[in-house]
Amino acid sequence: MCDLYSKLVVVSGPSGAGKDTVVAKLLEKDSDISLSVSATTRAPRGNEQNGVEYYFLSVEEFLEKVDNEGFIEHEQYGANHYGTLKSDVEKRLSDGKTVILVIEVKGAANIKKMYPESLSIFIMPPSLDVLESRLRGRQTESEADIQKRLGIAADEMRRSVDYDFIVVNDTLDDAVNDAYNIIKNHSK
Ligand code: 5GP
Repeated sequence: MCDLYSKLVVVSGPSGAGKDTVVAKLLEKDSDISLSVSATTRAPRGNEQNGVEYYFLSVEEFLEKVDNEGFIEHEQYGANHYGTLKSDVEKRLSDGKTVILVIEVKGAANIKKMYPESLSIFIMPPSLDVLESRLRGRQTESEADIQKRLGIAADEMRRSVDYDFIVVNDTLDDAVNDAYNIIKNHSK
């Protein structure tokens, strides 16, 4: 199974850095790239659907999966739990896909420890000001949640040095091309 994990790509970045948009473009660009769908206890946002953006679980369901060793890694972020599903990732890897995990920094560090051959990319916003205005612009979080996410963002940005690559998301197309080239070079 060891070699397979070289096809794991961990993508992190503060909330509002645009990592989901970058990843969506990567998926459009190349059908060999697949996105792991995590489980979370947070409520769906906007049009999010169960099994598409996340598997939305109750805290009880989530903790039961922890007990049954259903997660490769799991962490708490803000008030909610998030976890990478073993079954979901292994299925995609055995289909021969490059599998992207969009996860926060502690989970990313755990994956790197478990699978040193995996690739890690940090999506960096051009500045904290830009990050704040993007977060406010999407109008999906409460003020308290925005403040919490900005606090976490500063900590996360300090940990960007632990990643194999940092991609600054100033212009979306450039960020997508940079990330794509990094992924393709890694799997050569
Ligand atoms: P959001 O609520 O904005 O969707 O996600 C909050 C944070 O949790 C983001 O940094 C996201 O990347 C991270 N996250 C999503 N799924 C997982 C997961 O399975 N494991 C970990 N460790 N973090 C996750």
